[in-house]
Amino acid sequence: MLDRLLHLLFPNVCVVCRKLLLPSEEGCCSSCMKGFDPFKNYFEAEQTLRNVLVSRFGDIVLFERGWCRYQFHKKSPLQLALHSMKYEGLYKLGTMFGRQLGEWMLASGDIGDIECIVPVPLHRMKNIERSYNQADKIAESIGKSIDRPVMRKLLMRKRYTVSQTGLPAEERKKNPVGAFQVVQGVSLRHVLLVDDIVTTGATLAAAAAALLQAGVERVSFAAVAIALKE
Ligand SMILES: [Zn+2]
Repeated sequence: MLDRLLHLLFPNVCVVCRKLLLPSEEGCCSSCMKGFDPFKNYFEAEQTLRNVLVSRFGDIVLFERGWCRYQFHKKSPLQLALHSMKYEGLYKLGTMFGRQLGEWMLASGDIGDIECIVPVPLHRMKNIERSYNQADKIAESIGKSIDRPVMRKLLMRKRYTVSQTGLPAEERKKNPVGAFQVVQGVSLRHVLLVDDIVTTGATLAAAAAALLQAGVERVSFAAVAIALKE
């Protein structure tokens, strides 16, 4: 009831087309969402993620399972949606993407023995610059769907990495390696690392390496989208 009233008073608009949203829609309208490019099935998504990482790091990066919902294309409605989530701080969109991912994970049949969810952290400075960490919101929503706790304090950025947008490809490649550390010693069997979008895979790889080094046995990945070379 209150939700409906608030909706009437402060109508939400779609982040992509700016049309008024229905009360059932979150952040992005259903007709714009049709313009996103979902993976056909879990295997295709997982294999794509694996290929991205193997092509850059060889077989060194070990992840157990990888879930991803969309293929990312430049200038697509999905880019607009993810961009708005990042810079306009749209909680609802993060929640929506997280729930989609969580449902996608559950529908894939086996989420294994994942014990907790860790969002890829932003540096503290960036957290201030932006209104919130979008990976955090996605992780929280996945947690609700798959019924696992989110551990926000486990992983930390060691140093400030400049925003990757606008960096030349070579710089972007080098940027986040070694950028993470685990705050305390852990004895966890299986951690799910969450990010919004995978571009080179370097961020996930560096975060996973830090977790594995700190004693986590296995790491799986979940991301809203993978950017494929076009
Ligand atoms: Zn729309």
